[in-house]
Amino acid sequence: MALTTEQINSVKGRGFLRNRGTDCFSGRMPAPGTVFTAENMRDIALLAEAYGNGNLIPTSHQCIEVPGIAFDDIPKAEQFAREHGLIFGGTGPKVRPITACKGTTCVFGCYDTQALAKKIHEVFYEGWNTVKLPHKFKIGVGGCPNSCIKPSLNDFGVEGRRVAGQKEAAYQIYVGGTWGKNTRIGTPLSRLVSEEEILPILEKTILWFRENAYAKERLGVAVDRLGMDKLEQALFSDEILSRKDAILAAELKERV
Ligand code: SF4
Repeated sequence: MALTTEQINSVKGRGFLRNRGTDCFSGRMPAPGTVFTAENMRDIALLAEAYGNGNLIPTSHQCIEVPGIAFDDIPKAEQFAREHGLIFGGTGPKVRPITACKGTTCVFGCYDTQALAKKIHEVFYEGWNTVKLPHKFKIGVGGCPNSCIKPSLNDFGVEGRRVAGQKEAAYQIYVGGTWGKNTRIGTPLSRLVSEEEILPILEKTILWFRENAYAKERLGVAVDRLGMDKLEQALFSDEILSRKDAILAAELKERV
């Protein structure tokens, strides 16, 4: 029996993307801090054998996709995932799974990228999972200017820096990067920030995005339309935080 558009859309938001020309789906599985344990990988392999076609596909966004899951098996795959501490997701107009380079162990890494990515995953991927945004919002965490994970091509990118005479790493933030049909290199903030500033600036960026971008508009387009000065002013003050509840409760802006 052919699936209806309603059925296909009903599972897309839960991380299941239709396999072209079939009634099967790929289930997308993000990892906290981009790290899957060996046990996670064994469990995902079991899940792929039980409900998928036996293949595991790494995505460009550091998730694992399990293809070949029949529509009727999706609830069983989700149940299996829940019982093994795994999640499906990573689709829709909201914070997407966080990407991070291997700066935690890399000899060039200025800080623990995977620990920062895990913290961002917990606070913003999981914590803001029900917050609908104007468009997808990608976050990339890089350990040094070699830029292996390409932080500047994400809506919000973090890149580690060493500063002469300073023991702690400093961080360059990029906002509004996109890659694909429309490529835009993220705009760097005008100064480096400390580790403690990263999460508050990220929160303010997401709030600014939600308040100012039109539905279906990426952050970079909104920045170009309204001006980087306006965004940076919001990021380096706390005024927008005082309106957080109202911004999150408001309807998304529609073009008139
Ligand atoms: S960006 Fe730097 S820290 Fe990260 S993997 Fe590449 S070289 Fe290593």
